[in-house]
Amino acid sequence: MVNTKAYQEIITILNSTKTTLVAVSKIKPAYDIQALYDLGQRDFGENYVQELVEKEALLPKDLHWHFIGHLQSNKVKYIAPFVHLIHGVDSIKLLEEINKQGQKNNRVIDCLLQMHIAKEESKFGFDETDLIRFGEYFDQKKEVLQHVSIRGLMGMASFSEDEALIRTEFKNLKQSFEVLKGSTFLLDPHFDTLSMGMSGDYPIAIAEGATMVRIGSLLFGRRS
Ligand SMILES: *Cc1c(COP(=O)(O)O)cnc(C)c1O
Repeated sequence: MVNTKAYQEIITILNSTKTTLVAVSKIKPAYDIQALYDLGQRDFGENYVQELVEKEALLPKDLHWHFIGHLQSNKVKYIAPFVHLIHGVDSIKLLEEINKQGQKNNRVIDCLLQMHIAKEESKFGFDETDLIRFGEYFDQKKEVLQHVSIRGLMGMASFSEDEALIRTEFKNLKQSFEVLKGSTFLLDPHFDTLSMGMSGDYPIAIAEGATMVRIGSLLFGRRS
């Protein structure tokens, strides 16, 4: 069941701040996606490759599919023909595979680098040191990476009730975004996207400079 009232409220807030809504539809049926589509929503986020491929085949072609989960290199090929934006690029190996598949499909695939900003331990995402190394790598490899476009950064704050902590984590992510924007991507107008904020913390994310939020349970209900 789609919560259309929540959708309208969220859209009103986001439109006033020019923030893009990615409706996170993982585990939810295609008819829920269709219901939001019919209200005008075009950007949807999925976490699992197989599920995304199945839904893509069922739903309208002008829908923008965001891949927001952890992506294994050997699965990039399945989504490369149609994916709109890959949020979770967390290694150079993955970026190079996306580039390869972009070339095969004769397209440029938009990507975000995932930063590890939360307190929780996670195997996934760059930290600030990785980002410096990435900048060096990218400066050298730019010529080769013609089939990916790095559009910005993505991150997830701690699962916490502590608003001050969440705010600090989003501030750090925004800071990393500004550093890259002012260095590695100084001459690249496409580096413009900061994906942060979910159902529980999106108002804080917007206040801290998100350009894109990823909201699931507020729109589609809890996931079982
Ligand atoms: C599931 C998920 C979301 C949405 O979470 P909600 O709390 O349901 O809004 C956002 N981002 C990522 C990366 C997710 O995996």
